Amino acid sequence: MLTGLMQDRPLLISSLIEHAANCHPHAEIVSRTSEGPIHRCTYADIQRRAKQVARALTVLGVQPGDRIATLAWNGYRHMELYYGVSGMGAVLHTINPRLFPEQIEYIANHAEDQYLFFDLGFVPLLEKLAGSMPTVRGFVVMTDREHLPECSLPGLLCYEDLIGAQGSEGGDGGDGEDGEHYEWPQFAETTASSLCYTSGTTGNPKGVLYSHRSSVLHSWAACSVDGLALGSSETALLVVPMFHVNAWGMPYAGAMSGARLVMPGPALDGKSVYELMRDEKVTLALGVPTVWLMLLQYVDTVGLTPRDELCLRRVVIGGASAPRAMSERFATSFGAFVVHAWGMTEMSPLGTVCNLLPKHQGDTLEKRLAVQEKQGRAVYGVDMKIVDDDGARLAQDGRSAGHLLVRGPWITSGYYRDESGGTIDGDGFFDTGDVATIDADGYMQITDRSKDVIKSGGEWISSIALENAAIGHPAVAEAAVIGVAHAKWQERPLLIVVRKRGQELTRESMLQFLQGRVANWWLPDDVAFVDQLPHTATGKLQKMKLREMFEDYRLPTA
Ligand code: AMP
Repeated sequence: MLTGLMQDRPLLISSLIEHAANCHPHAEIVSRTSEGPIHRCTYADIQRRAKQVARALTVLGVQPGDRIATLAWNGYRHMELYYGVSGMGAVLHTINPRLFPEQIEYIANHAEDQYLFFDLGFVPLLEKLAGSMPTVRGFVVMTDREHLPECSLPGLLCYEDLIGAQGSEGGDGGDGEDGEHYEWPQFAETTASSLCYTSGTTGNPKGVLYSHRSSVLHSWAACSVDGLALGSSETALLVVPMFHVNAWGMPYAGAMSGARLVMPGPALDGKSVYELMRDEKVTLALGVPTVWLMLLQYVDTVGLTPRDELCLRRVVIGGASAPRAMSERFATSFGAFVVHAWGMTEMSPLGTVCNLLPKHQGDTLEKRLAVQEKQGRAVYGVDMKIVDDDGARLAQDGRSAGHLLVRGPWITSGYYRDESGGTIDGDGFFDTGDVATIDADGYMQITDRSKDVIKSGGEWISSIALENAAIGHPAVAEAAVIGVAHAKWQERPLLIVVRKRGQELTRESMLQFLQGRVANWWLPDDVAFVDQLPHTATGKLQKMKLREMFEDYRLPTA
């Protein structure tokens, strides 16, 4: 083999913020803060302050590879930590504050976090947990001296004081090199950059350890036109939290592309999100279906006309299936196109994106919505296949459903400090645990999690397809479908519905609504009504819990 003669520059996260500071210095990062007001800064500010973070960590004795945790909402200080921590060679461990306290304790200990940076709102939680996090040497509250809370945390540090000491105004950081003139260290691109634990619906959460290389390559995919097409003309609202798979890589892709970023802080209710969209002229918004449901409900309750008031052009929906009714609402009421996307923590997360092809040009809304229901086509870098129970590859005919396997440079090769081992097959594929079809154009559609599939008479019924159809009913707030034991068919679907407040809905009218919307033999055998459905820390339906709740349930047909 002849070696190419191109420069071998490592793909480092620090290079992203350097690029943004050089080429998009004035592009804004707008944050709603925990303290209350809207804060505005630029990529140049983030770069300068991220260097101060890096310098401050060095002074604290943080070594390359050490894990530095955050417990924080989306905001500029969190973004500074994204660059400062990874840029100096340490590992940014973003903790999901919605996990149970025992899980937070477990993962901080499993990761052996050295310092923990946190938003003001998490003081009570940390006061309870601090004593059981022995590796944490100090807690840094992400605020200024003026807002410093009264609390009993050991070794409490104030973020602005800590990094201020490294700025040009604040002194020389102890050995003559101030934060502003800090040079990012250069190291191998395969070095670990950040760590995110899965929500652990079964067993303990598992750590996914990203590298600089994987994060930079993933950003390129996110910026690509048939990816999420992030660019400098976009104002992107990151509703997806920075503690969940690095906010789908947006803080990195934003710097790569110079997109203006809007960070909502802790306020994710419909009103707050709508007002940010309107006031900041957001063109692209990214989030899971649950937050969009809250937004749509707010719009309906107040009677707003988003099409006239907002500049929203696209909404990226992932993390759970985007129901057809949701894509339709965004098209008709907002004039915005829903970009359905699929991925997972183990995939950084981007796997597929549902953009339209030239052949869909001129399609009616109805036809387009049928395409948008699918999770989309693989972005370059993600090699994807579906297989049967024996591992044999299935046809890409849009009908055959099988286990979805993936491989690529931003997909995990194994969990962090995991004893169970063996997540990758002999060909290097990772089993996503999802079941899907792929059609002749390469559009993948998730039909279920493999453990949630409903096996009826030897065939599989997609619980997701049924849920999406049910959610189309105007009186349905949320729907879940689980398989319930059946003497003849092995399992049959039970539909569990949360009605919208003040709405009437009977079992019969629900079933009637579904007729013609799904295959006849998929029609649920019964409908149960509940006040609320159980969710995981990342907003997904907890089917296991639902199955436990309905353990003794007997179908009328059984
Ligand atoms: P997480 O690692 O918490 O992001 O969860 C990843 C899982 O969420 C995937 O394996 C899927 O089961 C589910 N998921 C993500 N995006 C979608 C989507 N667009 N449609 C259906 N399920 C999705």
